[in-house]
Amino acid sequence: MKTGIIGLGAMGQGMARRVAGAGFLTAVYNRTVSKTQDFANELSVNACLKPEDLAAQVDLVLICVSADRDVLEMIAAISKTIKPGSIVVDMSTVSSETAIIAATMLAEKQVAFLDAPVSGGVEGAKNGALSMMVGGKAEIVEQVRPVLATMTSRITHMGEVGSGQATKAVNQIMCAGINQAVTEALAFGQAQGLPMDKVIEVTSAGAAGNWFLDRRGKTMTNGTYAPGFKLALHHKDLLICQAMAEKLNLEIPVSEMTIADYAKLMAEGYGDEDISALFRLKRL
Ligand code: NAP
Repeated sequence: MKTGIIGLGAMGQGMARRVAGAGFLTAVYNRTVSKTQDFANELSVNACLKPEDLAAQVDLVLICVSADRDVLEMIAAISKTIKPGSIVVDMSTVSSETAIIAATMLAEKQVAFLDAPVSGGVEGAKNGALSMMVGGKAEIVEQVRPVLATMTSRITHMGEVGSGQATKAVNQIMCAGINQAVTEALAFGQAQGLPMDKVIEVTSAGAAGNWFLDRRGKTMTNGTYAPGFKLALHHKDLLICQAMAEKLNLEIPVSEMTIADYAKLMAEGYGDEDISALFRLKRL
């Protein structure tokens, strides 16, 4: 299946290498042209200067860009040239509404769409160990499974278009709570003058152990917040969750607090740092 990838950011780069490694990748497009050219050279695939050029030469388009508006811009562009019978899989984190709009736009071109957001961070993208939550037709998932399997350790079909993104919103609310808990606890440990590497190792091995503590604990207590997952992107996700919670008449106070904390950090110029930069607000 000839595959093209749109978006060579922190996630897209690892994904592109995995898909290329399995022999599926034909073409890449990235808004910043230098990245397109570097990746096309590295992976020996076609460099596309426009998303339209990529869509015209593949059967499967994978997208991983930042936010809702960016996804819809890409869908509008590829709609001009995409062949009927092609499939588009969006792995960005956006709203369910955006997924449904994208699916409707593409259906007019006889093109199938899956919303397939992922969890597992840049490490998961690099190692092909992402957990993917997919919305769309089950038979389309099966058609593209060999390609998606190159990037994932788990692919879970959740239901109709939009249900992948709705599931990812659940994940992002959990990540907000985990970030609050881990940064608060590690700041508390550091304030007591404890040896933090040992604290992280011993707590990771017990009931408090979790992915974020394991992957980001030592870097944050050493004052390093390289992405990772940019906190401005998690802020964008939590605004989606906030709008969903309002419709459901549900309170999500930990997420509300995290939105406010991230806004503070973004105003101070830290939006491109990893979400573990929340530690900046907790430490002494
Ligand atoms: P990133 O490093 O900031 O990369 C964003 C990518 O989107 C870049 O390739 C960027 O192009 C492209 N882009 C943004 N706006 C665009 C537009 N209007 N038109 C075309 N391209 C555009 O972000 P990331 O960490 O890879 O995240 C990508 C998506 O995956 C986001 O939705 C994020 O929420 C989600 N996600 C991230 C993680 C993580 O741990 N990082 C985990 C799971 C899901 P340029 O290079 O030109 O800027």
